[in-house]
Amino acid sequence: MTPDEFRKQGAALIEWIARYMEDVESYPVKSRLAPGDVRAALPAHPPETGEPFEAMMADVDRIIMPGITHWQSPAFHAYFPCNASGPGILGELLSAGLGVQGMLWATSPACTELEIHVLDWCADMLGLPDAFRSTSTGGGVIQDSASSATLCAILAARERAGKGGLVAYTSTQGHSSVQKGARIAGIEHVRLIDVDATYAMRPDALEAAIAADLAQGLRPFFVSATVGTTSSNAMDPLPGIGAVARAHGMWMHVDGAMSGTAAVCPEFRWILDGMERADSFCFNPHKWMFTNFDCDCFWVADRNALVSALGILPEYLKTGAGEVLDLRDWQVPLGRRFRSLKLWFVIRHYGVEGIRHHIREHVRLTQEFADWAQAHPDWEVLAPHPLNLVCIAHRDGDDATRRILERVNASGRMYVSHTVLDGRYAIRMCIGQTHTTRDHVVRAWEQLSGTAGA
Ligand code: PLP
Repeated sequence: MTPDEFRKQGAALIEWIARYMEDVESYPVKSRLAPGDVRAALPAHPPETGEPFEAMMADVDRIIMPGITHWQSPAFHAYFPCNASGPGILGELLSAGLGVQGMLWATSPACTELEIHVLDWCADMLGLPDAFRSTSTGGGVIQDSASSATLCAILAARERAGKGGLVAYTSTQGHSSVQKGARIAGIEHVRLIDVDATYAMRPDALEAAIAADLAQGLRPFFVSATVGTTSSNAMDPLPGIGAVARAHGMWMHVDGAMSGTAAVCPEFRWILDGMERADSFCFNPHKWMFTNFDCDCFWVADRNALVSALGILPEYLKTGAGEVLDLRDWQVPLGRRFRSLKLWFVIRHYGVEGIRHHIREHVRLTQEFADWAQAHPDWEVLAPHPLNLVCIAHRDGDDATRRILERVNASGRMYVSHTVLDGRYAIRMCIGQTHTTRDHVVRAWEQLSGTAGA
């Protein structure tokens, strides 16, 4: 493709994306295709000769679009959001255009230095303790996902603890990525700690589990506390868990995958009270900070702990660049994308105050929605809802709640997902899309409560 051809097709593609942004609400939010439908529409073999770009875009419309679930729809309330924005998309495009592979400082100094710098900005935005800044003992790096961040934290903790009889802990509500990371790291023992009535980890239960493991000659080494659990947005008490971790010389990782973003607002910063006892922390701007997937920000308080676990220097990577940070030593893969561009664009486009504005609006709308459900005789709110997720159930029981979820998702007008809390089936309503307004939330409640017109 010549630069001129690229210019022409690129302009058409940008126009296509801009139109998609305008039209996204005209599609059913959740794809209606059945398994195999997309593959059945694709040719069995690749083309022997090149095809025009127009033909590819025609197939995007014909084959791909029906198989898209519209995560960017303002009526998408399922799972946690994966929100995007104009500056985020343009940052991704620029990263692709530069085609940089930033494994070493020397393979593109700007890739490494912008990333370290923007993560220091984010540490300021969230009010993280000083130790997490690159100007102190720690620093931040962009991982693909929170799962990778948790894995890196486990690997650093394992390196510090030494091998043999290691036990990792998280709550029964902790994300499955903790168990997956432990499995990858060869940790045989993972304990899921009981939670209290708010679904937050109980420090006394953690202490008891540790005592039982110590009595068996095992070695507790890692605990992952969650700030905003996936199921119900529960907030684990960091001060209590941190005190237990400190008493036993354990690594404490704090997983703030979605909810960490809320700490940008001073009034929500309490969710990170106790962070001074944490060894590592992550949150995903690709969930709730308008930065296209993938972008997980991961910090450690002691970068030497991470680099001694993951650093390795074969002859062919020696550059003689001197005292620089090579971020390949802060992650599992060698190669790295230039992800900080999109985060930098997003922060500069919105400004910190602009980000706060959207977060506050999402939280305000969620609280309003929860009030409607609470006040309705047929509905119950099943768990605390401090931020932008609320779990509700119909009083007629699990089957009724499930039927309503299936009905509203089949309508194509919105999309919610479910969880089970204390044995009860619940609809999770998460409000975090970039362009969700009060009208969307009103319509969602009308759909769920059955008062929507046909
Ligand atoms: N931790 C929590 C609390 C999550 O909710 C999620 C995903 O929703 C993850 C970790 C995993 O996130 P990722 O997809 O970035 O690996």
